[in-house]
Amino acid sequence: MNPAFSLCVYCGSRPGSDPSYVDLARAVGVWIGSHGGQLVYGGGNNGLMGRMADATLEAGGRVVGIIPQALVDREWAKRDCTELHVVDTMHARKRMMAERADCFLALPGGIGTFEEFFETWTWRQLGYHDKPVGLLNAGGYYDALLAFLEHGVSQGFMGQAQMKLLTVGTEVAPLLAQLVEAAGRSPQNPDFTQI
Ligand code: AMP
Repeated sequence: MNPAFSLCVYCGSRPGSDPSYVDLARAVGVWIGSHGGQLVYGGGNNGLMGRMADATLEAGGRVVGIIPQALVDREWAKRDCTELHVVDTMHARKRMMAERADCFLALPGGIGTFEEFFETWTWRQLGYHDKPVGLLNAGGYYDALLAFLEHGVSQGFMGQAQMKLLTVGTEVAPLLAQLVEAAGRSPQNPDFTQI
């Protein structure tokens, strides 16, 4: 059966220093799985990436992992993904992730997460795609980044039009529902509020 929606999530290959980050990644996976969705992600078994994929599978969702050959060993490719695609390059990975997704979301993470998030956002402003892009600012992790982006606007290097292409939220359920619905898809079990 086709998934109700396909959400591409970028997040840390490390777990972060506070256990709440893993709880957050698991909550995202539970929401995807319990709403009949499919997670598209980088295919690793480490950090937030791996725990989010575990939670999605446990909640009955599909998981599509896409990982370059060079990272298969380093990031411990997650072999129990519903689909695991081993591709040749990072560019092929990012292209396939973008093609398979209805919408995108960044969780807390490091430079890999930042790079993927910014690329997806800039592709949106350039018109390479028209899929919703979200940022989950849980626990204030991205407060400093959002303040810096506003600094970029105030200094004339960015416009509010670009900021409006980004959907920022602090809670898992409302933000994910907003992204999925903006992509024209309907989450199943819309009343599921266990998280
Ligand atoms: P990090 O946020 O640094 O823990 O990385 C999260 C994910 O981003 C991992 O799967 C990395 O392999 C991936 N990543 C790291 N650098 C890049 C990059 N330049 N482009 C795309 N993905 C990357």
